[in-house]
Parts: sequence; C-alpha cells; structure tokens
Amino acid sequence: MPNQSSPHVSVPLRAAVAALPAYVPGARPSGRAWKLSSNENPFPPPAAVVSAITEAAGEVNRYPDMFATELVEALATHVGVAPEQIVVGNGSVSVLQHVLEAVVEPGDKVVFPWRSFEAYPIVTAVAGGTPVTVPVTADGRLDLPAMAAAVGPRTRAVLVCTPNNPTGPVVHAGELEEFLASLPGDVLVVVDEAYLEFVRDPEAPDGMDVLGRHANVVLVRTLSKASGLAGLRVGYAVAAPRLAAGIRSASTPFGVNHLAQRAALATLQAPVQAELAEHVEALVGERTRVHDALRAQGWDVPATHANFVWLATRERTGELAAQAAAAGVLVRPFADEGMRVSIGEVAANDAFLELAAGWR
Ligand SMILES: *Cc1c(COP(=O)(O)O)cnc(C)c1O
Repeated sequence: MPNQSSPHVSVPLRAAVAALPAYVPGARPSGRAWKLSSNENPFPPPAAVVSAITEAAGEVNRYPDMFATELVEALATHVGVAPEQIVVGNGSVSVLQHVLEAVVEPGDKVVFPWRSFEAYPIVTAVAGGTPVTVPVTADGRLDLPAMAAAVGPRTRAVLVCTPNNPTGPVVHAGELEEFLASLPGDVLVVVDEAYLEFVRDPEAPDGMDVLGRHANVVLVRTLSKASGLAGLRVGYAVAAPRLAAGIRSASTPFGVNHLAQRAALATLQAPVQAELAEHVEALVGERTRVHDALRAQGWDVPATHANFVWLATRERTGELAAQAAAAGVLVRPFADEGMRVSIGEVAANDAFLELAAGWR
C-alpha cells in the first residue's frame, strides 16, 4: 500500500549522482565577519548596474528574452567574435554543465586537474562522464604533460582551469600550445577563465587567440568574479559555431533571468567597464601585498593570478580555519590540504595576515 507520508523513498538515484560529494559553498557569515571564502568581489556593483536591476525589477512578470539576444550580441562585441559563437547560462558552472552534456556520452572520460574547481567532479558525473583526475604539481600548477598522458580513447573532454582554483597559478601559452597539439582533434578542451581579468602574467595564453587556432577549444567565462555579479549568475562560453549551437541546444531554456540580463548589459557599458577595471587593479594590488607578506612570514605560497591565495596548512587546516572563523575571518578550508583565502577589503586582508603571522 503506497504511503505518501512514508520517509522511505524507493526511487533509486543514479549511482553516479548518489556517489557525489555535495558542493561545499563558502562559509556564510553568521554575525560580523570578513567573507574570504567564495572569491567574491568585495566592491558592491557600480551604480549604473544597480539602477539597471532596479528598473528591470518592474518587468519581471514577463519571461526574459529566451536567447538573451541583446546580451549575446554585447558579449560577442566585447570579446570580438560573431554572436553565434556565444552561449550564455546561469553562471559559468551551468554553462560548463551544458558544455559537457552536449558532448559526453555515458561512460566517456573527462580529464581534469586536482585539486581544482570543486564543481568539476559534479558536472562530470551529472553529464554521465567518468572523471579522470591528474594531480597538480607541488607548486600548485597544472601538470599538462601528465594530463595529456591521461587522455585515452574514451576521453571526450579535458578541463583546463587557468588560473587554477584553488591554487592560483596560470598555464603558460607555450605549454598550452604543446598540450593542444598533442591531443586528438575530437577531444574537447574547455579552458575555464573565471579569473581572466586578474591575470598579470605576460606568459599567460590569450584565450581568443587559442580559440582561433584550435576548433576543439571552448572558453568559459563569468561575470561573477571581476564583474561582481556573483549573486545574479551570468556566465558564457565562446566556441566554434557548431559547438556553440550544440551547447545552446543542451542549455536550460530561459537560463539567464531578466534582472541578470539587464545587469550584465549595463556591466558591459564602457564607463562601468572602466570602473570595474579600477576595482580589479586595486584587488591585484592587494593580492601582491598579501602574497608578499605571506612569503615574508615564511609561507610557501604559490604564484597567484586570481583573486585568492592558497595556504598549504595541511593537517592543521581544520583547526586553523576554525580559529580564523572565531576571529571573524571566513576562509575556504580543504581538509588536510590547505585553505583558499580570497582577496577582500584591505581591513579583511589585514585581519587574515595577522592570523597567518600568528600561525607561523
Ligand atoms: C568561480 C568560478 C567559476 C564561476 O562560477 P559562476 O557559476 O560563473 O559563478 C567558474 N570556474 C571556476 C574555476 C571558478 O572558480
């Protein structure tokens, strides 16, 4: 006799889904605390973006433009490609999900570095793929030769996170080129450029240039970090038209909501871009200050080109992250490995540096 109130659910979950670790979001402050746990932009959105959202608020009884036509065109102009090469989504994590759903058949392998972005194992499993992880080097860099060696006949996609979250280093143009040249043309290479605007390494690859020379490359970008729209969820892929069409077909209908579309459009306006570039410059300055101070304290911090630093606190990670939280600084701990600490407000960075000095 079926019992609707029974807590015993007999519907089986897909094995790959049941086995997934839950995504661990950055800690949220319960009282007054500096939130350095989610790589957010500490600057509030520019006034023009806030007014665009406020204006759009009165229109949300209507569905958004399903294909975000205006935003797609603006992004295409922004990066210098045709609109048919852009696919937008509800944050770049969704875009990445749809990229994999467009190409991965059940049991296909997806190669990615580890430790890297926490969403990679999740989007891989949800797409029906089998993850193949390749350890990053001792200094937190992607090991591209080892990743190339991990590519086999069942590999359908490789994820390249540059700068790598949570360690910070970028891949270099030369090594990426060698890597791409060594792969079969039917393996998709996703270059995740979530922190692109924070990169200051002259040897970093130019994603658009790479895309222009390798039709199997997809760039994934976001407005969550440098553009400060994490709360609205806008990300996009840049790809060859046929791949882009496939990703679009796999995408959630109306995936970018109306407020997000209007805010993203406002963000792409030149004066707002200039304001955001100033914020990014200030954060890059703070990043250098924090990185150098940590090294002066004796920490072995990897070179970082993102808006965070990686502290290899190893088996003390849990204890130190709890200490930091008690002192009002939220970091992102990875048990027994280390902690990722976002670059935030100057006072937040100072508070973290004081804690780090005490831990030496
Ligand atoms: C933050 C981040 C993203 C962006 O996620 P959104 O869904 O766009 O907010 C994508 N990739 C990496 C590596 C990230 O760290």
